[in-house]
Amino acid sequence: MAATNHAVTAELVALGLERREARWLVEEFYLGGEPSARADLLAAASRRLSGEPLQYIIGHWPFRSLDLDVDARVLIPRPETEELVDVALGELDRDVVTPLILDLGCGSGAIGLALVSELRQRGVVATLVAVDESADALTVAKANARKHQVLTASFVQSSWFSTVDASLRGNVDLIVSNPPYVGGDDFELLDPVLRYEPLGALVAPDRHGHTGFDDIATILEQGLEWLRPGGVLVMEHGDQQRDAIVAHAATQGWQNVRDLDDLSGHPRIFVGRRS
Ligand code: GLN
Repeated sequence: MAATNHAVTAELVALGLERREARWLVEEFYLGGEPSARADLLAAASRRLSGEPLQYIIGHWPFRSLDLDVDARVLIPRPETEELVDVALGELDRDVVTPLILDLGCGSGAIGLALVSELRQRGVVATLVAVDESADALTVAKANARKHQVLTASFVQSSWFSTVDASLRGNVDLIVSNPPYVGGDDFELLDPVLRYEPLGALVAPDRHGHTGFDDIATILEQGLEWLRPGGVLVMEHGDQQRDAIVAHAATQGWQNVRDLDDLSGHPRIFVGRRS
């Protein structure tokens, strides 16, 4: 007879898993309790015990109203990035009925796809251009678009704006981005679980003496010309980068600049407009 879910959960806890995570794996791999699922469950448990993030083992993770496919090709979506979606929804001009949204460094597609699907619930049909340097990330983002029936998205392999279609220049209503912003030295000190994620999605070179600032600086320098007048950039950043970002934004001509804390009280989200 198949072991009960309860007994199997206890077995995983005895192997060293946290109870909550053990339950999660049982739910994912052993829900029907078929004896044949046992091997899959134990394989998943052993991946977790060797340090791999739960999200990659399960293979999907919630982000706002979406259940996104995630694996080691993309960053695991984070709660502070869900806040960025809220901010972006609040910033989007309500008079624009068919907004054009550019998601720079889209990874799994989390930000852009959440925006399109939440706007759709409000009756707004947004067009998304999802950009990533990584072809692997774009494969995951496309699968997530299909999964959530986002039909108004296109996917562009590009390092920031470098190969984005020139016809978009000056026409974008909203640029959203969660660029890499962790400095190389800082990365060494962070939780080793981050080593399972794509390094290029996390770590950026330093610039102007600011740690992990290179990609953020590029977006601030090039973003304005892609926005339509009145268009807005909403960008995530590291908790030590606020002063550098606000100062750099001023030198580039960004208007109505605000910089918001996340729910843990850390500086996190830059908002700036083209006048
Ligand atoms: N917030 C992420 C972390 O600290 C970093 C994400 C990023 O670099 N964009 O793990």
